[in-house]
Amino acid sequence: MQPITMIQFFHWYYPNDQSLWNHLEKEIPHLVEKGINAVWLPPAYKGASGGFSVGYDCYDLFDIGEFDQKGSIPTKYGHREEYLRAVKACREAGISVLADAVFNHKAGADELEKFTVRKVNPTNRNEFISDSFDIEAWTKFTFPGRKGKYSSFIWDHRCFSGIDWAQDLNEGGIFSIQNEYGDAWEDLVEDELGNYDYLMNADIEFRNPAVREELKYWGKWYMETTGVNGFRLDAVKHITPGFIKEWAEYMQQLAHDQLLIVAEYWNIHDVEPLIRYIEATDRKLQLFDAPLHQRFFLASSMGNKFDLRTIFDNSLLQQMPDRAITLVDNHDTQPLQELESPVQAWFKPLAYALILLRKDGIPCVFYPALYDAHYTDKGTDGNDYEIWLSRVPELDILLPIRSRLARGEQVDYFDHPNCVGWIRKGEPADSRNGLAVLLSNGAEGFKYMELGEAHAGEIMIDALGKSGEKITLNEKGGADFHCAAGSVSVWIPAALAQDFKPGS
Ligand code: CA
Repeated sequence: MQPITMIQFFHWYYPNDQSLWNHLEKEIPHLVEKGINAVWLPPAYKGASGGFSVGYDCYDLFDIGEFDQKGSIPTKYGHREEYLRAVKACREAGISVLADAVFNHKAGADELEKFTVRKVNPTNRNEFISDSFDIEAWTKFTFPGRKGKYSSFIWDHRCFSGIDWAQDLNEGGIFSIQNEYGDAWEDLVEDELGNYDYLMNADIEFRNPAVREELKYWGKWYMETTGVNGFRLDAVKHITPGFIKEWAEYMQQLAHDQLLIVAEYWNIHDVEPLIRYIEATDRKLQLFDAPLHQRFFLASSMGNKFDLRTIFDNSLLQQMPDRAITLVDNHDTQPLQELESPVQAWFKPLAYALILLRKDGIPCVFYPALYDAHYTDKGTDGNDYEIWLSRVPELDILLPIRSRLARGEQVDYFDHPNCVGWIRKGEPADSRNGLAVLLSNGAEGFKYMELGEAHAGEIMIDALGKSGEKITLNEKGGADFHCAAGSVSVWIPAALAQDFKPGS
């Protein structure tokens, strides 16, 4: 069976030209050829900023580019029909499609309401800094452009636990909505900022059973309407795990096959809360390995001062490998974005080898690594910047090698701070797979590694072409492999070299 290889098929600055769904449909043969069999698409429904919305300022979950709302019928990615066609074409080509679901908050309400709030301390949200008082705020969602099609549910202040703007007072802050579900935030698995339930906009109240039912109804409608067979859940750090578990169980019971549900719990410094969240949701989901991304970011910034033997330390991949979605970069960590921590270009081939050619983790390739990205935006200093993210040409080789050769037992040679390697022995039934990987963040690297007797006498070449040498394996299938300074080499049988050519 082919291993799962995912792509995040967008980045923050993808053009606002309604072209993404059509672009995806055209790229399907290319993705299949590379061995990519799962695609995470951005939110397909209308955001508060209409045709300019990346999708995380969620307005109407049922408007996937169909209704004239927020100044546009299509979303920035295209029209409903184009989305449906692209999803169908992916499924027919054997590619799973993960829909992005933003459940933490809603933005762009249609009407003001008056209700009772208390202000909280932004750095300790459990601490009230005012008595109860009434405000008028944007919390009523009636979706006038949709006129009740697909769902007649009206969201009001009883569906939200917090808001950041009092319209009548012209005042910002974090206002805890005082409703029948109590005056506290919902239960979470860590205590950052006291309780980080509130992130932005109108924060959804999951203690309201009508809200839970509506989001389950939406999930059913969405899966039936679009044919997606997976979900990527946004910002679950700010959502009580009780609801996510309930929703995932409900969706799984509706689906014919195993659903792939991956979630974003962004804590780069500590893997423990990720593990607690996975346990609290009864292992119903996978999480992006945010701590591993941070290791890659640090390694790429520190050069040979980083001890490569520790590259997986405290990552989800190391602690709970069957739950880890591994990544190098994403739309939040790319340059000029909120969580900016881009992995430097020299290290990307090393990082991709580390997530693509090992046995554990489901790797997620970031769109610019295959397609480039060019954009401008303001930095945190207020100045304008122009960014060029170059594709990672090594992926043309690493991706097909993942799907065809990265098989069998894995043996690690993590024994030098600046040079580590591993081998995959291949499957006994097929001696045409197996490989050796060596990477260095310092000087040129050399290491003796063994693929096993089944590979005795085999001639190996570096598929990435960084070395022109041919290496003959001894009777134990071993040899001194090498890699260039600050580089990665992937040694495969020379007989297969023509199948893995650069730029193919
Ligand atoms: Ca929340």
